[in-house]
Amino acid sequence: MRSIKLYDTYEGKLREFVPLEEGKVDIYYCGPTVYNYVHLGNFRPTVTFDLLTRFLRECGYKVRCVSNYTDIDDKIIKQAKVEGKSEKELSEFYIQAYEDCLNKLNILPLFAHPKASEYIDKMASFIKDLEDKGAAYQGGDDIYFRVNSDEKYGALSKQNIDDLISGARIDINTKKENPLDFALWKLTDDDGIKFDTVIGRGRPGWHTECVVMVNSVFNKPLIDIHGGGFDLKFPHHENEIAQSEAYHHTQLANYWMHVGFLLTNGVKMSKSLGNSTLAKDVLERHSGNGVRLFFLSTHYRAPVNYTEENLIAADKLSQRYLNSFKKAYYRLSLENIALEGLITEDYEEFMNALASDLNVSNAMTVLDREVKEINSLSIKKDADFTRLSSLLFTFSKLSTILGLDFHVEELSNEDKAMVKAYNEARENKDYAKSDELRPLLMEKGIL
Ligand code: AMP
Ligand code: ZN
Repeated sequence: MRSIKLYDTYEGKLREFVPLEEGKVDIYYCGPTVYNYVHLGNFRPTVTFDLLTRFLRECGYKVRCVSNYTDIDDKIIKQAKVEGKSEKELSEFYIQAYEDCLNKLNILPLFAHPKASEYIDKMASFIKDLEDKGAAYQGGDDIYFRVNSDEKYGALSKQNIDDLISGARIDINTKKENPLDFALWKLTDDDGIKFDTVIGRGRPGWHTECVVMVNSVFNKPLIDIHGGGFDLKFPHHENEIAQSEAYHHTQLANYWMHVGFLLTNGVKMSKSLGNSTLAKDVLERHSGNGVRLFFLSTHYRAPVNYTEENLIAADKLSQRYLNSFKKAYYRLSLENIALEGLITEDYEEFMNALASDLNVSNAMTVLDREVKEINSLSIKKDADFTRLSSLLFTFSKLSTILGLDFHVEELSNEDKAMVKAYNEARENKDYAKSDELRPLLMEKGIL
């Protein structure tokens, strides 16, 4: 297998990727809390882990990529009241809206898309076991995780537990033993969504939801890669690890990957800050390829600024690629030449760039170079069709690994007849006819 390096935030360095089981990779990344339309930033992890999945599959791994829906959360209860819906109706509506965006962005189907609400009994028995192990306790109306039970607490976010305690907000209303302890379960009989379970009536906390979904969907305590946006490193992922360590005596994932923020005017795009641009609106204005290229143009760990200009530029680039591909494809199609012949040097250069912690910018230089050559060959009278065919074949393969969709409709018989008539008109110096046909052929992307 190809040597792959990924940046592991737990170790704080680039590491050679070695799967737990030969030839297989299990990935989980945290998905959205579905209480309203998600903003564009929520799709940055989605696009990144979709790229990682495509790349690892191309390397020959069998990849199971999973992302969850957080459909049990106080924000959902609040919003359901505002919209006059049940929590279920509300979350299902926004899940559908999210999935429409997934389709537009050409995200591969996931191995599973678990919803927190489907794992409640498992969460309750997990929490009960944590209590039995001495890692959880009831304080007032909440069941808390005892952070002191995990001596490595803070390792992911590189924070010292004493510093964390001195910086923690002291909430006089809670019955915590330690300000860092976090809620696993809220015992409640309020009018929000709640469940009767072995630990009583109530609902789970977000940190427990994810760790239980990871364990349940993969049916094992340790997976290869766990990820999400940088904001999840602390406390969410730290708390997931702490529960896993207490419950299974193992880390939850072998590699932790965190994606940089999408910013608006230099500030993290966030629902709570009110500076969000909804993904669904962006995908109305721009193509899925354009939005994907916008994300891919910056390394996944670096921040990226959202501007309409950047999106328009990415859209234009994707249109330029598509036009070049289309024109050359039709040229070959009229000669009845199929696409074949991988250009190995280009493929290796591209794959090696991605193997270096998903260095898409370097990988894109291969595509750029190929498009330039495709353009210059396409307009040549005596083009080298074998070279053009292998360029298109390779370009198509590489762009698919990036998740770009440059699908071209086949030429119809009428189109072919029009091209024939155009060529004949030119040969016969019938310029009136060729001038009449040219714009029609250009509009179809054939010329
Ligand atoms: P949330 O619904 O806020 O829990 O977020 C769902 C996913 O989107 C998580 O992986 C977050 O880390 C990620 N996320 C939220 N805001 C941003 C942002 N501005 N840039 C990148 N990722 C984000
Ligand atoms: Zn999570």
